[in-house]
Amino acid sequence: MGQDRLAILTGQSVKFLTVCNEGGRARVYSIDLRGKTGLVAGVANKRSIAWAIAQLLHKAGARLAFTYQGERLKSSVEELVSPLQGSLLLPCDVLDNAQLEMVFHTIDSEFGRLDYLVHSVAFAPHEEFEREFYYTSREGFRTSLEISAYSLVPMSRLAMPLMEKAGGGSIIAMTYLAAERAVPTYNVMGTAKAALEQIIRQLAYELGPKKIRVNGISAGPLSTLSARGVPGFTDILHVYEERAPLKRNITHEEVGKAGLFLLSDLASGITGEIIYVDAGFHIMGF
Ligand code: NAD
Repeated sequence: MGQDRLAILTGQSVKFLTVCNEGGRARVYSIDLRGKTGLVAGVANKRSIAWAIAQLLHKAGARLAFTYQGERLKSSVEELVSPLQGSLLLPCDVLDNAQLEMVFHTIDSEFGRLDYLVHSVAFAPHEEFEREFYYTSREGFRTSLEISAYSLVPMSRLAMPLMEKAGGGSIIAMTYLAAERAVPTYNVMGTAKAALEQIIRQLAYELGPKKIRVNGISAGPLSTLSARGVPGFTDILHVYEERAPLKRNITHEEVGKAGLFLLSDLASGITGEIIYVDAGFHIMGF
């Protein structure tokens, strides 16, 4: 079976096509998101994983809403998203219920529907990475889990009626191997990722009958604002390069492509799943 991947320029958007030749018959699979809408939470700057996913969603034709956390990040996110025609930019700290509700209310009035939700939000207080995990404070635990895991629950609940209006939807959240392995210095963020992955499965079960899929992407290390706050991050990059089957680190674009796939109809039979984009690192015994 021969296979080619084509990108066809259709005005503003890029239509991704996969052509498979099966005994002379051509079958075409497309990722054409024109008429679809998405909410992307977690863009801080051009290195953010959320931005890598958003760029591909936009190129495939989706209209996007973005949220930023606080005035500090507003101008950098605004600079990135303002060239994207028809996009919305809204403030949202996921600790603030009123802001969360306002985001979905605005999307309802502006878009009238929601097809995709990208959750790419995480935070743990700096000191929680700096000392042994057994010193994790009650407050640090609460904050880390509330921002990095719990936030997917209200966001999915608020997205639900808008996705029902769209006839179904797809939600993705970003996770990491520390959800299931002991990763030195990752500490309480590993606990948060374990909770996030359970939340993904539980939501996938409950939202499945509404034709809403919920999946996670477990990414290998990528140099971002948050990642650089993890002590020894550069060492982690070297370990991956040495031990991963592909003998290299992943790229932002590779996570973006996995996001585009999971959100699109090409992944229509996949829900409650964690897809690893880590150059195969997680399969290794040592
Ligand atoms: P990033 O710093 O670019 O993104 C993190 C985002 O979380 C920022 O936009 C920040 O504003 C947002 N955020 C933090 N607290 C918030 C709050 N209270 N309300 C709203 N937003 C808040 O870093 P990133 O690496 O792109 O992180 C995105 C996701 O990817 C995170 O879930 C992270 O854990 C996950 N991840 C990252 C890596 C990596 O190596 N970079 C690997 C695996 C998973």
